[in-house]
Amino acid sequence: MIHSSYIEIDYKALKKNIRFLQKEITGSVKFVSVIKGNAYGHGIKGFLPLAESCGIDYFAVSDAWEAEIANSVKSNKSELMIMGMIDNEDLKWAIENRISFFVFDQDRLEAAIRTARKIKRKARIHLELETGMNRTGFSDNDLEEIIQIIKKNREIIELTGFCTHFAGAESIANYVRVHEQFKKYQRLTRILHKGGLKAKYRHAASSAATLIYPETRMNLVRIGIAQYGLWPSKETKMYKLFDGEMKVYRDPLEQILQWKCKIMSVKEVKPAEFINYGNAFLTTRKTRIATVPVGYSHGFRRSLSNVGYVLIGGKKAPVVGMVNMNMFIVDISLIPTAKKGDEVVLIGKQGKNRISIASFSELTNFINYELLTRLPSEIPRIVINK
Ligand SMILES: *Cc1c(COP(=O)(O)O)cnc(C)c1O
Repeated sequence: MIHSSYIEIDYKALKKNIRFLQKEITGSVKFVSVIKGNAYGHGIKGFLPLAESCGIDYFAVSDAWEAEIANSVKSNKSELMIMGMIDNEDLKWAIENRISFFVFDQDRLEAAIRTARKIKRKARIHLELETGMNRTGFSDNDLEEIIQIIKKNREIIELTGFCTHFAGAESIANYVRVHEQFKKYQRLTRILHKGGLKAKYRHAASSAATLIYPETRMNLVRIGIAQYGLWPSKETKMYKLFDGEMKVYRDPLEQILQWKCKIMSVKEVKPAEFINYGNAFLTTRKTRIATVPVGYSHGFRRSLSNVGYVLIGGKKAPVVGMVNMNMFIVDISLIPTAKKGDEVVLIGKQGKNRISIASFSELTNFINYELLTRLPSEIPRIVINK
């Protein structure tokens, strides 16, 4: 059966983004590709092998559920880290599969040690440090005890990382907070070092910190949004693309995802008629409309009612009336050639026009991240330009 819409993933654009990012971080910093949230809506199963063919061999997911999906498609050479939730019951699976995971409290540390001893395999852990986000991680007061526990269990633990996460490096408003966090991270890792602990990787930076605070890269970066060709925020983009002389650089990132479907039906409506449910849209002239088989159940938000637009025949066609669960209507009066079966671009390029994820997000008050991760996993992902 054919799904009502489809998502294209542009391999060439991905390669370009990764090449740019690899060049930024230089050779000695490990590039970890963050593929949580179904690879930011791109689909873990399709995206991971593509990233591997661009040279990536380390992936980060949020939880054990995603890790299992990633583990089923990755090559033997690639490594995985779980940054968030993993039930103590699933630790056995993770350890057996040599998947590293964040350890942010004593309960998890002890559970990991117990499990590793039971199955006689080393647990690969990243000690997460609380540096000011106040979400997860060990604080100053915990370190003494943690050091002792780890030292006692050295033979069963592999210290893969000392890490932390910044509370919004993409916004200049958080400048002071992020810098305080980094200082704290350095202070806490000094305590760990003094206590005799060393980790293979020290990491803190996501896309934004990687791009604008190079000192926070250390020897590993966790890159999510930027590899998909999107800037973490307008500020990060401005910072990288405009210099003091007002010279503008070419945008090195290219959105790799496009979302498309076909016109389901076309008809004409007389003047002074309401279109679709209720009275949200009243025609003022003879209006030619097209039905688009996508709705809020697919992540096309209801707040795009009477506000959003799509591309048909290379031109913008505005949404008229409400976005329904599985369809909405656009005005194609100014696109006389449009007919049933024509391509509709919901996100992406067509002719000279484009609907970027950023513009889409602006209309809906959504951040890039949220819009992408709301794209249902059932929509087929198709790789192009491979
Ligand atoms: C999501 C996430 C990242 C990646 O963030 P981007 O802004 O998408 O680059 C890095 N680290 C952690 C802990 C995350 O949860």
